[in-house]
Amino acid sequence: MAKVIEQLLVVQACDQDIQRLRKEMDDIPRRQQQIESRLAAQQQGVETAEREVLEKQARIKNLEGEIETNRAQIQKYRDQQLQIKTNEGYKALEKEIATTQTAIRKLEDEALEGMETVEAAKDVLDERREALAKEQVRVDEEVKIFLERSTGLDSECEEKMAERKVLAEAIDPTWLARYERLFAKQGDAAIALVEHGTCGRCHMKLPPAQVVGARKADTLTVCDFCGRMLYHSS
Ligand SMILES: [Zn+2]
Repeated sequence: MAKVIEQLLVVQACDQDIQRLRKEMDDIPRRQQQIESRLAAQQQGVETAEREVLEKQARIKNLEGEIETNRAQIQKYRDQQLQIKTNEGYKALEKEIATTQTAIRKLEDEALEGMETVEAAKDVLDERREALAKEQVRVDEEVKIFLERSTGLDSECEEKMAERKVLAEAIDPTWLARYERLFAKQGDAAIALVEHGTCGRCHMKLPPAQVVGARKADTLTVCDFCGRMLYHSS
């Protein structure tokens, strides 16, 4: 193996580590958002339950208003009864009063049932609020771990970059530049291992001359297909 390849392989391992670390760092906001989006669903659940309680309470208030109106109506009938002269008229009002009383009882029953549903809705609301609080604790914890990991990744990346700088300084600049162009172009590796006569990266079958060339310590061979620098493991 050419010495320069040997040196470049170490740089490549470094570059791949840096690449992986950067990718992981880039991914942190997205994953953080993913975790936090779990809260959004729970928050929505709480809001829905809150609305339910308010709506049910408003319904009861309406019923109570209707009951009051009916009671006032009965009072009006009674006042009219005091002034009425005929027996028929008195009886007619008596009938109206009875009908209104029946209506009031019906409204009262409805209001009572309504209060039970308010209680049930409040229980649901309490449960959801509790679930949200628990999820909030879990999410905060996970986000904290993420942010710690992020800080760790930062320093790990910096160390790798410092290590790479030292390694790169010892390499012939022409070859280093060539390697860097290739690495940037390929995105994953600039150097490929020859495996069973094929390029270990693009997996194309190599001409015998390239396989032989890759074994030589004094020359540098590149893959005809992907352009990566080739080497043998021994
Ligand atoms: Zn190739």
